Amino acid sequence: MTRAERALDRARAGLPPGRAEAVALLTVPDDRLADLLQAAALLRDRGRGRRITFSKKVFVPLTTLCRDYCGYCTFRRDPGEPGAHTMTPDEVIALVQAGARLGAKEALFSLGDRPEARFPEHREFLRRMGHRTTLGYLRRVCELVLSESPLLPHANPGVMSERDLAALRDVNVSMGLMLETTSERLLRPGMAHDRAPDKVPARRLRTIELAGKLQIPFTTGILIGIGETAEERVDALLAIRDRHERFGHIQEVIVQNFRSKPRIPMSRHPEPSAGEMLRTVAVARLLLGPGINLQAPPNLSADYYPKLLEAGLNDWGGISPLTLDHINPEAPWPLIPELRRATEAECFELRERLAIYPEYAVRPEFLAEGLRPRVGGLVDEDGYVRKEYERWRHW
Ligand code: SF4
Repeated sequence: MTRAERALDRARAGLPPGRAEAVALLTVPDDRLADLLQAAALLRDRGRGRRITFSKKVFVPLTTLCRDYCGYCTFRRDPGEPGAHTMTPDEVIALVQAGARLGAKEALFSLGDRPEARFPEHREFLRRMGHRTTLGYLRRVCELVLSESPLLPHANPGVMSERDLAALRDVNVSMGLMLETTSERLLRPGMAHDRAPDKVPARRLRTIELAGKLQIPFTTGILIGIGETAEERVDALLAIRDRHERFGHIQEVIVQNFRSKPRIPMSRHPEPSAGEMLRTVAVARLLLGPGINLQAPPNLSADYYPKLLEAGLNDWGGISPLTLDHINPEAPWPLIPELRRATEAECFELRERLAIYPEYAVRPEFLAEGLRPRVGGLVDEDGYVRKEYERWRHW
């Protein structure tokens, strides 16, 4: 019996694979792929049932400036480049208010990492706004989103200190940082994280741990196909599992696939295939267990995304009725009615969630006191968006 077959047997018996077995499952042959998917799907059904969630969000690219130069990034800009921009508070408010009119409930802040460390122009912008750091400015803008709109902020601003996290917790219902990988190798010259000081895995794991210590519902995940090996991919999932076992705060794990784009340094790097993505989602489910919320962005797998349901995911992530995915602007979001049709065709129920996942929305210790009434007013007793607020149901 091969290692992969042994792991499949264990999975069917409800036992998680060990590291070597998980690595073997990532390369399970095509004629056993259906068995792998079935084991993962059964585990998802056991822990999460037949309910698939999404969050109706507005994507807020607060600043496209970033001090890092990741090889796959199409979002970041240097000052003066076309597309380089830091949003003013008025621009943010106009955007979130437009999103609110379309029923969005999440303001997803994505931004470059510590641009003030590299660019004097950005330091000057922050000074004019009355701040020294981008994270201080972000906190203020989140406060404005809360006072000027019904949306709930969820910030993804990169590596953070305990102080930053504590300050942002007051004005965010949840936060996130993609671990991406635990591979130090990818920091070497010519690799994906060469020239990306904020992608040192230990720094990212530290942020994830601090978020756990502060009881912040936290989104993280892996980015696959950026040059990591199968072992390194499994190690990143195990590192996430370990932090969740210690702190219980990982509300969601994303499996994101690298997408090639013309203007990035890795433009000639191959993209992961559908089979690789399905295997990775399934192995993530088996490693992380029945209860974890597992997500893969449907717009990055547009040709086959309903198939990901067979691999054990239970969430489609944030879907914008208004804005582009600024990280992957070439990949349009599936429209919500289309997503609903695709989900129901596979015999699942689609439910809307907030940026904070249902099981955390009903646990007060995971929310700043000032945010509890806002969240409580939007969710039912199980933490899902109340059906009367799911406007997309009537489209
Ligand atoms: S992926 Fe994030 S950290 Fe890396 S360059 Fe892009 S914006 Fe900066």
